[in-house]
Amino acid sequence: MSAVSEQEARDVAEAARETEWTHPSFVKELFLGRFRLDLIHPYPEPDPAEMAKAQPFLDTLRAFLERVDSDEIDRTGEIPEAIVQELRDMGAFGIKIPTEYGGLGLSQMAYTRAMQMVTSKDGSLTALLSASQSIGVPQPLKLFGTEAQKRQFFPRLAKGAISAFALTEVNAGSDPANMVTAATPVDDGSAFLLNGEKLWCTNGTRAELFVVMARTPDVVVNGKPRKQITAFIVDAATPGVTVKHRLRFMGLKAIENGVIGFTNVRVPRENILWGEGKGLKLALITLNTGRLTLPASCVGTAKAMLEVTRRWAGERVQWGQPIGKHDAIAHKIGLMAANTFAMEAVAEVATGLYERGGYDIRLEAAIAKMYNSEAGWRIIDDALQIRGGRGYEMAESMARRGETPIAVERAMRDFRINLIFEGSSEIMRLFIAREAVDHHMKTAFALVNPQSSMGEKLGAVGRVAKFYPAWYARRWVGQVGGYAEFGVLAKHLRFAERATRRLGRAIFHAMVRFGPKLERRQMVLFRAVDIGAELFAMSATCARALMLARQGQSEALTVADAFCRAARERIQETFKTLFGVNDPALYRLAQQVLSGEHRWLERGIVGLVPSNVVSPARPAELERSAEPAGV
Ligand SMILES: Cc1cc2nc3c(=O)[nH]c(=O)nc-3n(C[C@H](O)[C@H](O)[C@H](O)COP(=O)(O)OP(=O)(O)OC[C@H]3O[C@@H](n4cnc5c(N)ncnc54)[C@H](O)[C@@H]3O)c2cc1C
Repeated sequence: MSAVSEQEARDVAEAARETEWTHPSFVKELFLGRFRLDLIHPYPEPDPAEMAKAQPFLDTLRAFLERVDSDEIDRTGEIPEAIVQELRDMGAFGIKIPTEYGGLGLSQMAYTRAMQMVTSKDGSLTALLSASQSIGVPQPLKLFGTEAQKRQFFPRLAKGAISAFALTEVNAGSDPANMVTAATPVDDGSAFLLNGEKLWCTNGTRAELFVVMARTPDVVVNGKPRKQITAFIVDAATPGVTVKHRLRFMGLKAIENGVIGFTNVRVPRENILWGEGKGLKLALITLNTGRLTLPASCVGTAKAMLEVTRRWAGERVQWGQPIGKHDAIAHKIGLMAANTFAMEAVAEVATGLYERGGYDIRLEAAIAKMYNSEAGWRIIDDALQIRGGRGYEMAESMARRGETPIAVERAMRDFRINLIFEGSSEIMRLFIAREAVDHHMKTAFALVNPQSSMGEKLGAVGRVAKFYPAWYARRWVGQVGGYAEFGVLAKHLRFAERATRRLGRAIFHAMVRFGPKLERRQMVLFRAVDIGAELFAMSATCARALMLARQGQSEALTVADAFCRAARERIQETFKTLFGVNDPALYRLAQQVLSGEHRWLERGIVGLVPSNVVSPARPAELERSAEPAGV
């Protein structure tokens, strides 16, 4: 049960939210019904000079990975020290650290390409490298560190000091307002004593340096106390830092993940990153860029699955034909190829725009994380199905009976966590939905909110009269023709332009229809997010295909065309159910299940919950939940 109220959780999240949009965003515009293809087309290609600089490292990494026995790592649950050392020696822990501090100084695109390659072979190695560099100390240090902090920590990290990001606690998962780890100022504030426990900290069992989020004393804002969360760099060698447990999971068997205890750990004030009270915002901004890695990793797995499937479905003969000739299997393979292409476009566009600068990628990165993890999961599921029994069999077992060991089941186990960590799919949708309705909230919310004062309502009338008549009228009128340079894909972009205007109108209609209750209708908002994500994927896919076609790879148009056809179907289906006529019935049923009314459905099982577990007292929130909860 939540230790803080819904309002408190919301206040903490809002205080950490980046409220300003100083740079443009394709996705932000999309939710306002404006199709700004010019923001992602021409396709933001990787800088050839940067990629050439990265090539020797990528070649070394490839040669190394070809030698690694990933099934052995999975079986033993350990990454041998020699392997970690080899990664250190090639600079793999300092890929993005500037050369003046001893790192490789490579670009974000080079880094994500490297992570894509690693993931295609071994998820545990990705966890090690990525937790260190996507969210661990180097990333926030690069973004928010002072020159002195950079000089102190970068050289160590570049040499291979493993680092970790410690945010989650037992009661603070998706909701950081519940955080209890605290840093108390001592010695006139020149240092802090850190006390608490962090859960599921990746690399925590092996890390030399941590970024730890902790509560620092509340400040008073408008007469009310406001919770403060601050980010500290903590050296694992400081007395009081302990690894309490190493944790084990369904997949990523060799992940170095643990419960980390902090007991009176003295941290100098100089180790605060960015500033007191800015820790949650720092974590969210770090994750904006950190989230660019995971979508690229998902592409690595998708490509690996495509390779496995292409070989197997072409050679495995059943019922007189290679299985890839049977319609049901061919359908899966077609979608797999189309989605792999789209996932790469989504990941690359987000990263390319980040590299180009002058662009706000927070929504693109969130969609990339959500979209690629979910599309990748479907791809693995299909690959496993196409491999049949061999999909479910462990590589080691296949090897023992003389068959080529292909670890699809390991890939599946390793992959599943992508839909949960670095912001679960639900939290990503909430984050995206919050921004999708932001303009309407600022402009018109006071009018539909019964709790607004007369003054607030009058203020909103002025804003509404100024913005909506012209904006709304334009959401009905589209351009005729257009996008001719895209050839076979032009019709898809015309569809995307129409669907974008329709989405903008639909979000506005939802706000008028549901008023302040819209934030509680998560399923309505989530469907709008899903349409936006598909439109982004379609647009990125078309932009990428045209770029490749112009470079001579015209087959890309065929793949993109297939993707867009399928995406259009999904978009049309989602529009049909957008307002969710069945949502309230399902919500009511869920509440009945939670209240125990349908325990009869569970009859006849032994089940997984140990029989000596006593059900906890029912949270008071449940008794009151006649309508969906907020946030
Ligand atoms: C292998 C692994 C590695 C990890 N590595 C790290 C790490 O390095 N550092 C770190 O700090 N953390 C790490 N985590 C923690 C991870 O980020 C959290 O598991 C994640 O944030 C979700 O928190 P939770 O598991 O407590 O789920 P909860 O927050 O309890 O959520 C449970 C479910 O409810 C959903 N949910 C929650 N709130 C809402 C809402 N308002 N609306 C709708 N749905 C909601 C969630 O999406 C989820 O499906 C790791 C976890 C694992 C398993």
